[in-house]
Amino acid sequence: MPAHIRAMVTTRFAPSPTGRLHLGHAYSAILAHDVARARGGRFLLRIEDIDGTRSRPEHVHAIIDDLAWLGLTWDGPVVFQSQRLDRYAAALDRLRGLGLLYRCYCTRAEIAEAMSAPHGPAAVYPGTCRKAPKRDAPHCWRLDMAAAVTRTGPLTWQNHGRTILADPQAQGDVVLARKDAPASYHLAVTVDDAAQGVTDIVRGRDLFEATHIHRLLQALLDLPVPAYRHHDLLTGPDGERLAKRHGAPSLAAMREAGEDGAALAERLRAGRA
Ligand code: GLU
Repeated sequence: MPAHIRAMVTTRFAPSPTGRLHLGHAYSAILAHDVARARGGRFLLRIEDIDGTRSRPEHVHAIIDDLAWLGLTWDGPVVFQSQRLDRYAAALDRLRGLGLLYRCYCTRAEIAEAMSAPHGPAAVYPGTCRKAPKRDAPHCWRLDMAAAVTRTGPLTWQNHGRTILADPQAQGDVVLARKDAPASYHLAVTVDDAAQGVTDIVRGRDLFEATHIHRLLQALLDLPVPAYRHHDLLTGPDGERLAKRHGAPSLAAMREAGEDGAALAERLRAGRA
């Protein structure tokens, strides 16, 4: 990437095409878009479709139509994670080479059982397979969290300009490659944000905890560290998150009903949607 592009403020919207977008997505996309536009930077669109069983092309088309309807424009081609699997494999290889990954053969039922141990339920995966002998069976790859944080030492990141001490241990030995997918969200998002030169990550508060993991992966993989802004989530009059509200209309439904997308975007900007 040329140096003048690397120096530009770059934000992105990175939806997973596993369903239709709602108002909460629109709000997040608008904030990320506006941060870039206000500073003469780049706004990218990345489709996070590594989950082959849940991602659907019709959702990709709807996402693109929704963003255009809201009046948002993005720079460069749309990037699809499903076309970048070799990059995630290379990152996994590197972590494996550092001795930081292990195979986990546990089924969901075994994990549930291990976590409901008699001496009190575990908050995270208890590391059952950390020392398991290698065998020929379906497995995911987990990060050996204790070894990883020993390697990096304490880490910090910036949220809205405030320094946050990274606390990845709270999430235990996270999965970095799934049994059914060649990379996990954590790995793919970290690799791609760096590869695409994203400088400012604007996304919902629901991903705040995930950032501790992303910061750790950046340190392990020698990647640059973007600035973060985790924004509040939109709520309905009942205080419940819009994304979770039963029956909240999708952007596609509003668009097809003839609503004015640019006007909706203005209301979201003004906090009146
Ligand atoms: N693909 C993620 C999602 O749709 C968001 C990724 C991110 O913004 O980091 O929830």
